[in-house]
Amino acid sequence: MTRKFLLASDFDQTLSFNDSGVVLSELIGFHSFHDKVKGLADINLVQQGAELSYLILHDPDFRRVRLEHLVETGRRIRLKHDVALFAGVLDNLGEEHKFSFNVISAAPQEIVQSALEGIVPPDHIFGTRFRYNEATGEVDSIIRAAAGWGKISVLEELRANLGISHDHIIYLGDGSSDLPVMMHVNQHDGLTIAVSEAKFISRVERVMNWKSAEIRRFFGSYGLTLLEWDRMHTDILTIQDSGVQVATLSDDNAAAPLLIAQ
Ligand SMILES: [Mg+2]
Repeated sequence: MTRKFLLASDFDQTLSFNDSGVVLSELIGFHSFHDKVKGLADINLVQQGAELSYLILHDPDFRRVRLEHLVETGRRIRLKHDVALFAGVLDNLGEEHKFSFNVISAAPQEIVQSALEGIVPPDHIFGTRFRYNEATGEVDSIIRAAAGWGKISVLEELRANLGISHDHIIYLGDGSSDLPVMMHVNQHDGLTIAVSEAKFISRVERVMNWKSAEIRRFFGSYGLTLLEWDRMHTDILTIQDSGVQVATLSDDNAAAPLLIAQ
């Protein structure tokens, strides 16, 4: 019997090495992107990951950005070596496992589509969408930002359209802007895979019904090696006197990230 899975992945620093915002900034000759992002983060005005889209819409230094800049930025982004191989592997898992591979990114959709051209079909890419002024080509407004909690909306729409249950969702991400959607996936017994040093929760066996040796063998058959696979079963509680907030809480199934390399 065929088991259907929804595999959703973040883009910036999950499938790519560099951040879309940095590459776009270099393209338009602006060199203080990180300072701008930090300024936005400090005032908590926009969801993490949506800073670039906010700047394009509101910041004088970014108002000059047009559609062609976004497409060119995508072309300049360096993808991780195995992205094309990974997407290809998913199509060759046999009849038992069918994956729908989709990318959900806070970056402008045009950047991600351009970067993944020929690897992921454009209609499997969900980024932040802009409405453009027809006369000037300027970005007029944001149709929807696929950032932070917004990633959950996109994921849930995809899941409903594909008719896939929550426990057949796999989400790949790299960092804190993925936390809301990763928490959501974990809460519903899906699988999250962190591709960075950050520690998230991994439940490969439960989702795929595969043992770790089988998963290693599978990746190995495509010339890929799992670099790290540690497991922890830890509850961490930090308790302080009343009147002071509890500092740390962690899930009981926290596992170290999967790192995949050729
Ligand atoms: Mg990212």
